[in-house]
Amino acid sequence: MSGSACFKKCGSVLITGANRGLGLQLVDSLVNGGFSPGKIIATTRDPSAALKLHELAKKHPNIHIIALDVQSHESIQKGVEEVHQLVQEEGLNCLINNAGINVIANFHTVTAEKMIENFHTNAVAPLMITKAFLPLLKRAASRGACDPATMSIQRAAVINMSSALGSIELTNKELAGHFNWYPYRVSKVALNMVSRSLAIDLEDDGILCMAIHPGWVRTDMGGSQAPLSPEESVSSLLSVIGGLTEKDHGSFLNYTGEPLPW
Ligand code: NAP
Repeated sequence: MSGSACFKKCGSVLITGANRGLGLQLVDSLVNGGFSPGKIIATTRDPSAALKLHELAKKHPNIHIIALDVQSHESIQKGVEEVHQLVQEEGLNCLINNAGINVIANFHTVTAEKMIENFHTNAVAPLMITKAFLPLLKRAASRGACDPATMSIQRAAVINMSSALGSIELTNKELAGHFNWYPYRVSKVALNMVSRSLAIDLEDDGILCMAIHPGWVRTDMGGSQAPLSPEESVSSLLSVIGGLTEKDHGSFLNYTGEPLPW
């Protein structure tokens, strides 16, 4: 069975920032790829403006659109209540922390405010969202615990959308010269540490935690020069994420499935 096909056996998947870019493509590819999970909870900070998401939801009633501003504690709490109503005793199987921003600033233009804004959305928010949804993730993990050593998205998983630009080891003069964005890069390094720390803290609950780089993709963030289309990136991402097992717990993987250096 291919990795993507495992999504079909997954009860629920929640994706943040699902109104455009990779988040929207994840929803689209899941419902149109023939491996739609039971429920897709597509979150966006402004559902009324998420026209493409509504178009998809009209055709696929297993898409549930929920308001969630990842920077807002109140919005996260409200989102948890709504998701609880949707998933009930089954809990939440797969949380994909996808929403992100790139506050572009180099050494000369960076300010404390720019650092903190990027840090909040890209590193603090995924941590706070995971904490808030933990009871629902734990519920799903305990229901799928026939073998306590088994980890997968069908049981319970937290997937953090990271970036190769958050790899300290891959940062050299050439790469830093092109993408010397302090707020973004530092936020993704922090997200990687969040992922690794979550892997330690949630291991006993059987919740798989990892970070993944989607490649350089033609979205609003990636820009038109990027080599990958959202469809190409997401097709590979779903195959890798769907096939994750306990051996991938705490990993940092490329969209092709190979490990990336921290
Ligand atoms: P994108 O096209 O700019 O989309 C970003 C998404 O995040 C949008 O849905 C946006 O919603 C949402 N978002 C931002 N702030 C939010 C907030 N406070 N609350 C809720 N949603 C919020 O970016 P993308 O290319 O799809 O990137 C998705 C993820 O992949 C990001 O984490 C990014 O860092 C990562 N990534 C992308 C690339 C690439 O080449 N594209 C490479 C490496 C990693 P609004 O429409 O409301 O702003």
